Amino acid sequence: MAVTTQVPDLVTPTWDYAPAPEARTLATIEASYDLFIGGDFVAPIDGRRFTTVDPSTGEPLAEVAEAGAADVDKAVRAARRAFIRWSKLPGAERGKYLFRIARLLQERSRELAVLESIDNGKPIRETRDVDLPLVAAHFFHHAGWADKLAWAGYGPDPQPLGVAGQIIPWNFPLLMLAWKIAPALACGNTVVLKPAETTPLTALAFADICRQAELPAGVVNIVTGAGETGRALVEHPGVDKVAFTGSTEVGRSIQRALAGTGKRLTLELGGKAANVIFDDAPVDQAIEGIVNGIFFNQGHVCCAGSRLLVQESVHDAVVARLKRRLRTLRLGDPLDKNTDIGAINSAEQLDRITALVDAGQAEGAVMWQPECRLPERGWWHAPTVFTGVAQSHRIAREEIFGPVVSVLTFRTPSEAVAKANNTPYGLSAGVWTEKGSRILWMAQRLRAGVVWANTFNRFDPASPFGGYKESGFGREGGRHGLAAYLRTGADA
Ligand code: NAP
Ligand code: MG
Repeated sequence: MAVTTQVPDLVTPTWDYAPAPEARTLATIEASYDLFIGGDFVAPIDGRRFTTVDPSTGEPLAEVAEAGAADVDKAVRAARRAFIRWSKLPGAERGKYLFRIARLLQERSRELAVLESIDNGKPIRETRDVDLPLVAAHFFHHAGWADKLAWAGYGPDPQPLGVAGQIIPWNFPLLMLAWKIAPALACGNTVVLKPAETTPLTALAFADICRQAELPAGVVNIVTGAGETGRALVEHPGVDKVAFTGSTEVGRSIQRALAGTGKRLTLELGGKAANVIFDDAPVDQAIEGIVNGIFFNQGHVCCAGSRLLVQESVHDAVVARLKRRLRTLRLGDPLDKNTDIGAINSAEQLDRITALVDAGQAEGAVMWQPECRLPERGWWHAPTVFTGVAQSHRIAREEIFGPVVSVLTFRTPSEAVAKANNTPYGLSAGVWTEKGSRILWMAQRLRAGVVWANTFNRFDPASPFGGYKESGFGREGGRHGLAAYLRTGADA
């Protein structure tokens, strides 16, 4: 049944909410942090430090050690030493450590959610209800795999690779850490992880959890720093496997650096996902899915539904309802439990978003934003909708990584597929329709690692996640994700 194109011209009811701030004091932030190497917090050799800030105010939070090449070398050596015993532990023993870490993550989840919101700028509602539960779930899931690897379909005796060098971005700091560390450890590898420069604090809190769990020294090492620290880790000869999540540009440079070295590599890169709305879609759910798809985490999501493809016959109705819904979103203090849209993670990211939004207007798309007062301090961007977008516009081709959706139209399912696949990326896609057969037809044709049907941005540790084309290669999560950390029959 087609949805009506008549949208009642109602004034959206919005109420003033009393502030409902989560207690900032739940998280303790030290003045200064060292590197976590060999089970201890150690000062960086050349004493260099950088500042991490609260993006909702721009205020400094802490000084964090900047690991140089010599520190990275120390961390890789610690991981190599730890590998000798860790890799020989029976899977069930490794599993016990992972279960212990998972339980500690749950016990400390409120503190970690607050810390993540402060350092990253994302709303507490998300860190509390999405990030932290998924982080714990990822450790529980992989704890369960540790003693079952021989039955995972990779031969009777799959072996760990050695030391994994892992580099993660700032958009889901602790969740990306979990996606990297949990499978690596379950499979018997040891790790050196570099968190993003702007969001190191929860990784350092995780280091403390490793100590609380009495994880053997050197199994997990955390080296904080910027791109140069990441480069030193990638290029270190003692690293057997590199797992990278971040931009396509840096992913490319890593692939070049590793060519011919024999190191294993997985890349989880950018995206420009199509969220496809057919005229028979359950429209109210679809609106929620669109909002969740692109405004969740301020759009700082690699698999965000940033290209909204709407069937032409319902375009006006969908856009009108979307605008009405966006007027109800609350932007502001990330620690307020009512907040839907938090801060942009950094001034640099805000500049990138603004430049693309300017390009969208210059190229002739029509911009709309709800009335929304941006706080004076910190970095913010109002939820933004572009209509009248052509496939050639930069806002339809480039990853914006911000709360900006570009609306395009289609008439037939084939046109929807052609437009959805018209991108160098291929990480995710969404399909909204009442027809099950059409969902399957679309899923077979969309060149994306994940296709969500009548939902969006759903994650589960049992479900593999990863891309095609310039979105990278390799999978994280599920049985497939284990393969990235195992030497199996084919390559033993
Ligand atoms: P980025 O600039 O590529 O940074 C990612 C990580 O790599 C950071 O830790 C960064 O350190 C480090 N790095 C920078 N230059 C490096 C180099 N030459 N060698 C080694 N490491 C280096 O990406 P970002 O801007 O932080 O993150 C946003 C991007 O990540 C988006 O494109 C998004 O789509 C992608 N992403 C993908 C997924 C996925 O699963 N596919 C998930 C989340 C995000 P600094 O922090 O110091 O820059
Ligand atoms: Mg920060």
